Amino acid sequence: MSAAPSPGAGELELATLPKIELHVHLEGSIAATTAVELARRHGEDPEEALEVVRGDDGGFGYPSPFRDFMHFVETFLATTRQVRTPDDLATVAADFARGQAAQGVRWTEATFTALTLVDNGMEPGPMWAALRDGFAEVPDTRIGLIIDSIRELGVDASRRTLQLVEDADAPIVGLGLTGIEGSVPEGEFGHLRDGAARLGIGLAVHAGETGTPDNVRAAVDDLGARRIGHGIAAAQDAELMRRLADEGVVLEVCPSSNVTLSIVPDLASHPLPTLWAAGVPVTINSDDPPFFATTLTEELGHAARMLDLDRSALADLQRRAARASFAPDDVKTDLLAAIDAWETQER
Ligand SMILES: [Zn+2]
Repeated sequence: MSAAPSPGAGELELATLPKIELHVHLEGSIAATTAVELARRHGEDPEEALEVVRGDDGGFGYPSPFRDFMHFVETFLATTRQVRTPDDLATVAADFARGQAAQGVRWTEATFTALTLVDNGMEPGPMWAALRDGFAEVPDTRIGLIIDSIRELGVDASRRTLQLVEDADAPIVGLGLTGIEGSVPEGEFGHLRDGAARLGIGLAVHAGETGTPDNVRAAVDDLGARRIGHGIAAAQDAELMRRLADEGVVLEVCPSSNVTLSIVPDLASHPLPTLWAAGVPVTINSDDPPFFATTLTEELGHAARMLDLDRSALADLQRRAARASFAPDDVKTDLLAAIDAWETQER
């Protein structure tokens, strides 16, 4: 690294970095303009059907910041309700894949709440086909699905989700547990741990986002999770951080999400540097990028500045994401080779 990089050099490096994203929600990646288009497609007045705000330029965006976590959840669900048909879902999937490809994301694990669409009336077969077709429109990026259960919907809903996964013809690489921490104890979702093991796929648990270090412990102890969505509450607990570091439990950190949802006041107070200094294996992710007015590239830029990362540290960060991913082994090998090539290429 030169001592004084020219303005924008960091951004240029990030533009070409082969990226891996482990924590991003498909429905949380629907741009406000797309949600408006879907509402109109079905004859609805978008400003009644959706929580969107019109900017000075007449374009639509999401509220920012959200009043609180529930305000975000309601906005997210209003957007998801616009996805009424398999055609709508194929539009969303293709848009998402194009956005990832444009950023040089080689591998994405997209969390998708299948049960919400099924309970809104979509047949599972056409739903999975729409996702396959949408992703197939963009062959230069690869996407695996994490199908999540929402804690507060309870254990029966989670068992129905697991059944959907077992019957699915889709590129599913993992199960997820999301929703309001503390609403149902982690231990009641043991069928997700067992189901993931039986199906030979991963399990990622959102914990320690709005919750506490104990929620992170429960995800690891009761569900055997090796990947924690957010997990930033661990920064309050030195013993837990030591454990995550020793056991190699990976956190999927999403800095702008935590700020926009007022979980931390600003990026300067974000616990990412504390986790990093304690040796906790972190990865960097965007969560729900248009809702938080961000992208994976921007989140990696924030992390690079917060942690003072140089080119080889950025490469290491992406290597860690590749190794922690639920991707098939041949995909992991390709990802690691692409990162090696990026690290050593002439600039
Ligand atoms: Zn999330």
